[in-house]
Amino acid sequence: MEEKKVVVIALGGNAILQPGQKGTFEEQMKNVETTCKQLTQMVLSGKYKIVITHGNGPQVGNILLQNETAKGVAAPMPLYVCGAESQGLIGYMIQQSLHNLLQDVGKGDIPVATVVTQVVVDKNDPAFQNPSKPVGPFYSEEEAKRLADEKGYHVKEDAGRGWRRVVPSPDPLEIFEKEAIRQLIAARSSVIASGGGGIPVVKKDGKLEGVDAVIDKDLAGERLAVDVEAKVFLILTDVDQVKLNYKTPQEKGISKMTVEEAKRYRDEGHFAKGSMEPKVRAAIRFIEAGGEKAIITSLGKAMDALEGKAGTTITR
Ligand code: ADP
Ligand code: MG
Repeated sequence: MEEKKVVVIALGGNAILQPGQKGTFEEQMKNVETTCKQLTQMVLSGKYKIVITHGNGPQVGNILLQNETAKGVAAPMPLYVCGAESQGLIGYMIQQSLHNLLQDVGKGDIPVATVVTQVVVDKNDPAFQNPSKPVGPFYSEEEAKRLADEKGYHVKEDAGRGWRRVVPSPDPLEIFEKEAIRQLIAARSSVIASGGGGIPVVKKDGKLEGVDAVIDKDLAGERLAVDVEAKVFLILTDVDQVKLNYKTPQEKGISKMTVEEAKRYRDEGHFAKGSMEPKVRAAIRFIEAGGEKAIITSLGKAMDALEGKAGTTITR
């Protein structure tokens, strides 16, 4: 029998919450179920062992808002603890949904587990000098400046929509729980790990300590893919393919690109910072670290893309 390929799947925000939804538990669970139907197909094909990672922007935003609204009644938690909470929340939904769908077809014995995952970052990463990633709720300018004074937050005006807290977005160095994750995979478990890009921690004299920052989930997903020796790194988002000249009359989907081509298109500015650029960067890193192929596509095309029939595939 052919050996199963380990695939690391990075789920975009829309896999859990659709634009315009409020984020009730029922809404999120329904989206997660739709997502897990696709993931179940991968497991049931018998060809893949899956490791899932996911974004957490709207969820951590709501947790921060809950903390703020309830301050004085319940002690607010630091951002990195909110990140841990969001990994538990989303991991619970995915692991239950995946189990229930497997149970439906008599495969409820396949284990599924979430690992609360810490991701080591460098305390000298230049990102700490330049907080740029918006998190949590929008504020008026006045409120934002008061929070900056009171709590030492960095705040910035966000594209005409209001003021937000911004935090550093350092590069992920190491998935700290990688050995535990590898053992779960070896025990044929589907694993959910490094949610929201992982909980950022720094090492001090060999010990770990949480830091207020947000790691890009696609870049952390790449570290995870390397650490679990994945053959395929599958990034699922809300577009079927990576495009050249995106949103112009010359727009053109890319079916395949080499690392060299990907770098050229990136340097030509085809991929927007903060959305497509980190995905392409993560794909390039994965191949350069020895991965077989990286794929960027939408949830609905995931199975076809794994067979080379859809999406954008990046290879050496
Ligand atoms: P996710 O939650 O999946 O990480 P993002 O919004 O961060 O989603 O990234 C996906 C978005 O990237 C797409 O919705 C699209 O608007 C945007 N994008 C920017 N540049 C491109 C490009 N060249 N080709 C395709 N999509 C692009
Ligand atoms: Mg993104």
